[in-house]
Amino acid sequence: MKRFFRIIVFGATVLLCCGCVGGGGSRGSASAEGPGDFGGRESGREWQGDTADGQGDAAARQEDAVEEQDRESVRHNDAAADGDRESVRHRAAANGDRESARQYVDTAMGTVIQQTVYAPEETASAFFSESMALLTGLEQEELSWRLDTSEVWQINAAAGNKEGCSVSEDMEALLQECLELYGRSGGAFDITLGPLTRLWNIDKWAAGGADDENFRLPSAGELRDTLRLCGSDRVRLVPAASEGEEARIFLPEGMQLDLGAVGKGLALSRLSCLLEEEAGVSGAVISLGGSILTFGGKPDGSFWKVGIVNPFDTSSNVGILSLEGQWCISTSGDYERYVEADGVRYHHILDPETGYPADSDVRGVTILAKDGLLSDGLSTACFLLGPERGMELAEEYGVEVLFVLSDGSIVMSEGMKAYFTKR
Ligand code: ADP
Ligand code: MG
Repeated sequence: MKRFFRIIVFGATVLLCCGCVGGGGSRGSASAEGPGDFGGRESGREWQGDTADGQGDAAARQEDAVEEQDRESVRHNDAAADGDRESVRHRAAANGDRESARQYVDTAMGTVIQQTVYAPEETASAFFSESMALLTGLEQEELSWRLDTSEVWQINAAAGNKEGCSVSEDMEALLQECLELYGRSGGAFDITLGPLTRLWNIDKWAAGGADDENFRLPSAGELRDTLRLCGSDRVRLVPAASEGEEARIFLPEGMQLDLGAVGKGLALSRLSCLLEEEAGVSGAVISLGGSILTFGGKPDGSFWKVGIVNPFDTSSNVGILSLEGQWCISTSGDYERYVEADGVRYHHILDPETGYPADSDVRGVTILAKDGLLSDGLSTACFLLGPERGMELAEEYGVEVLFVLSDGSIVMSEGMKAYFTKR
């Protein structure tokens, strides 16, 4: 039976379309628990602050979709909510067809992770374990600003130290790319906004929508004082002097890194490498909140379908990207995480010049790139820059971009047109 199944993932929607999930008789299903259900999951709670995903609203809709479309997937949700690793569920044709889609839903990095791979069952099972270990490792050992086990935490703790802090090779490469994007975006993209994201309490905003008890509008004075602590131009990243040594980073006192704008994108790139090493996986689509990875192909040769959420009605899409092979797709939108107070919407992408949420005439930006760090970083940067400067920046980086503007119009790069079908 042909059926549509939609996974709502805050920024974009993966349309596992017309049986593309359920090859050979398996039913399309890749539902997910909502991120609001993290309760008790330390890692999930911690990363929420860094990545700032959409919350209950979208989650509720996901559950509704599950109810309507696939009851069995509700059981997947329960299993995932239990955090029971043993409960890896596979969807495969009853005959164990090697070409079948196997699916796994769990949470990591404060968001719902939905994975579909085409592989023999054992290969898929091993891959799901490895991918979850990769994601929790990335969060706990590298990127979280909340966990004292992470490298970013160590760097932040050393802010103001004369000796600075040593950084691993991977972290050096990541920071270098982020600092470069700061320069190329004219300072709009800035990973040193930690003090500002904490002032706004973004990580505590429970959901998009009504007044949130964790929301308090900072005063102009507070914003001014906080912005003084920020600014990537004051970060000193000193490369290793010789082989075997580590690079060092020097943050001025009070500065704090927040890598929330690139964490999930970096995760996509790491997952892509993992898939390349895994010879038995012929195709995969993995969604981490607003960032999605496609890899390889489907047995029937059809395209991966990735829906772009309509910011004016997030239960629908403005259109679909049809993709073949490996791609990273990231979306930043003002509907992903926000609070409305006194009729004003405050969202989670902050303008380093004003300290307030960006006001750039953009409701949502989707970047299509080969690299996840670029797709994620540039989606945030282009949201801040708006369509004209954003388009130029995307072109400089050689990625495709699509903007949904405040007046409802859609603007996209020439190259994007080849992949996009309007709804
Ligand atoms: P999401 O993480 O929801 O997918 P983004 O990738 O656009 O959305 O990243 C938003 C997150 O990036 C915020 O929650 C915050 O942690 C951080 N951030 C906010 N403003 C900026 C900015 N101007 N530059 C870099 N990072 C930012
Ligand atoms: Mg981003």
